Amino acid sequence: MSNYKSILLENDIFRLVSDVAHQLEVDCFVIGGFVRDLVLNRPSKDIDIVCLGSGIELALAVSNAHPDKPQVTVFKNFGTAMLKIGDWEVEFIGARKESYNVNSRKPTVENGTLEDDQNRRDFTINALAINLSKKNFGEILDPFGGLEDIKKKIIRTPLDPDITFSDDPLRMMRALRFSAQLDFDIEPSTFESIKKNNERISIVSGERIADELNKIILAPKPSYGFKLLLGSELLHLIFPEMVALLGVETRDGKSHKDNFYHTLQVLDNVALKSNDLWLRWAAILHDIAKPPTKRFHPKVGFTFHGHEDLGARMVPEIFRKLKLPLNEKMKAVQKLVRIHLRPIALVKEEVTDSAVRRLLFDAGEDIESLMILCRADVTSKNETKVKKYLANFDRVEEKLKEIEGKDKVRNFQPAVTGEAIMEIFSLAPGKEVGELKIRLREAILDGEISNDFEEGIAFLKKITG
Ligand code: ATP
Ligand code: MG
Repeated sequence: MSNYKSILLENDIFRLVSDVAHQLEVDCFVIGGFVRDLVLNRPSKDIDIVCLGSGIELALAVSNAHPDKPQVTVFKNFGTAMLKIGDWEVEFIGARKESYNVNSRKPTVENGTLEDDQNRRDFTINALAINLSKKNFGEILDPFGGLEDIKKKIIRTPLDPDITFSDDPLRMMRALRFSAQLDFDIEPSTFESIKKNNERISIVSGERIADELNKIILAPKPSYGFKLLLGSELLHLIFPEMVALLGVETRDGKSHKDNFYHTLQVLDNVALKSNDLWLRWAAILHDIAKPPTKRFHPKVGFTFHGHEDLGARMVPEIFRKLKLPLNEKMKAVQKLVRIHLRPIALVKEEVTDSAVRRLLFDAGEDIESLMILCRADVTSKNETKVKKYLANFDRVEEKLKEIEGKDKVRNFQPAVTGEAIMEIFSLAPGKEVGELKIRLREAILDGEISNDFEEGIAFLKKITG
């Protein structure tokens, strides 16, 4: 146990809390995620301290004893208080016992012992505590075998999983999230219980579900979490559009690929290249409209014409239902879904400058993300094909660089502004000005004229006669 003592003593906060608690004559412990991450050797900046007494009083006393007198944020209703010391966030709370009622994930709370407090924790690995009291400083308290489960890489509830999950169904999402983040297995009876209780997810707010889902998506290998979501059928309840991608159909000897597993592979491929949550969402959604656009033609087999456009149109509703932000992030995802096939089209046709300019213009600042997505979308098992496709994308990227260097269309700003058009042609603000701006932009993108003031004005004069 001494090894936790020396690790804790590396951080002055624990010694200070220990001294102050000693003066107040309360016992206190570091508990939960911080301890788990300490054992796993994962960096973490959130410290939860539970004490057998008032967490708020302890927090105030700790702040008072600290040379910087850090500000204490008190949450009276919850009986908790938070201190920010440097980059550390330290939360203080009195040990509590919880009891749940059927319709809410908000428990009734009363003061309790350390054991009561460990009993209310979601998983064995999250129920670990380390004693901060002077006498037993550094001693680890592990009533449910959490250390062993960390070693075996197992997520397991401390008590009967049916009670744990039914009490607070958010824990089902947390179980999947921790296994995705940490690459742990979910112990079989715990997973069975998630399957059995999955419908209880209905009492959890969409925002909390979205938080966990996003953490799954940000895991190093997000497909793992999605396979668990599918296997537990939580995915059917929270995101049925994705389940619709599942399955292969064969007709007259012609089949299409399983778009669910394809999507997961694209997502994992993107995850190897980027930590951007929204690019990962674009990967998840790039083929989302394949089921509703699927057609069978006896000669060519299955087609999904227009899935990129319909998919883009589905994005806002999906974001709204999943309580994801309806802002410029959503617009970027929508755009990537809409144009995800464009670089492939560029490969097929003779690559004209104007096609490249249009792609640069339409992708704007998301061009790198788009190329990551396109490359990730190559999931063929035929290595020769893969090599060929990726080499094609190399060519497209060279072309993109060349044209961007020359024409700077990526953050396109016309040299002739709306104001200039109004002044020179004596126009009032209105539709006509807008139309002239579009004609001008098209001419520049088509390469008829360059993006230059004089040339632009000459062009406009010509077309307005
Ligand atoms: P992370 O900070 O990475 O999200 P964490 O385990 O620290 O992981 P927090 O939400 O910060 O998660 O919660 C801190 C601790 O509180 C957890 O380790 C766990 O012991 C307990 N806890 C949090 N949420 C729940 C819950 N819904 N049910 C039971 N215990 C919970
Ligand atoms: Mg935490």
